[in-house]
Amino acid sequence: IFNFCAGPATLPTAVLERAGGELADWHGTGMSIMEMSHRSKEFVGVAEKAEQDLRDLMGIPDNYKVLFMQGGASSQFTMIPMNLLRGGSKADYINTGQWSTKAIKEAKRFCEVNVAASTEGNNFTSAPSQAELNLSPDAAYVHYTPNETIGGVEFDYVPDTGDVPLVADYSSSILSEAIDVSKFGLIYAGAQKNIGPAGLCVVIVREDLLGNTIEGTPTMFDYKVAADNGSMYNTPPTYSWYLAGLVFEWLKEQGGVEAMAELNRRKAEKLYGFIDTNDFYANPVAKNNRSRMNVPFTLADAGLDKTFLAESEQAGLMNLAGHRSVGGMRASIYNAVPEDGVDALIAFMADFAKRHG
Ligand code: PLP
Repeated sequence: IFNFCAGPATLPTAVLERAGGELADWHGTGMSIMEMSHRSKEFVGVAEKAEQDLRDLMGIPDNYKVLFMQGGASSQFTMIPMNLLRGGSKADYINTGQWSTKAIKEAKRFCEVNVAASTEGNNFTSAPSQAELNLSPDAAYVHYTPNETIGGVEFDYVPDTGDVPLVADYSSSILSEAIDVSKFGLIYAGAQKNIGPAGLCVVIVREDLLGNTIEGTPTMFDYKVAADNGSMYNTPPTYSWYLAGLVFEWLKEQGGVEAMAELNRRKAEKLYGFIDTNDFYANPVAKNNRSRMNVPFTLADAGLDKTFLAESEQAGLMNLAGHRSVGGMRASIYNAVPEDGVDALIAFMADFAKRHG
């Protein structure tokens, strides 16, 4: 089968097979990695290797900390203002969809939010250009969502925010292409798309932004506490961290993010190319902002949605329903979805349109 779920998403088969093989007996120790102390030399080795592999893959500069945190990406919506306001009272947010909207809602508990640009007016079917950003000079940081998972809207550039730290929710597009980490103050990503199991959240943060939380910040929400303790102030989600490490190793074997970018470009071009040339299907997103990871599409007759989903599942093409808030269809084609999967989906869609169109 091919799994097009938006998250938790498909993992590389090779990773699952390897994890399965060492589930009960990790490297001849007679124990599962999830049964070991997080302070054991075995687990610390796994944890450090995962961090180093991620640093290698993304070219993370030495003046950035990599944190393996809990509570998913949603907890970051709260931690970011708590840690990054640093005495300021205002932050800029760019609103391109449901995830940006949720981040804004949380930030409003802590500070004045200037919505520097919003594409709500066109039902979140594009991202604003740099010229359209109304950035405030006194913002403590600028937050945006490079890839909106639900609407399938992706920025085709990294906003220039001058000296104001740029904060990015890379949950659904991290590791899908090379990015220049030095352009960001903070990058965060829930793991359950391109990294590993849900719950874990990777945070990459510039060191100079640490250590100035607002009063009342819980210990577990303080990035400096996490950084000073190697993300082990408490018991970390060890098994998720280990699995993330296996995914990073797999990515390196595939040729790293450059190879992924090329593969992802091909997959997305094929699928959008098919949708655009077939009258039966449509995608509403501005062409330069179409997500390479999440491809929402509608059928000419929404009355056929249920049939489409039932038949696609029978054909082994799983989880193609759009987000519950928008309906329609969505094919998420993250790193671990092979090109064969996209080919199979296109063949099914063509056949379905012929039979029902
Ligand atoms: N941000 C984006 C872009 C997402 O796609 C998601 C959804 O998974 C989240 C945030 C929320 O992540 P979590 O469910 O890990 O809190």
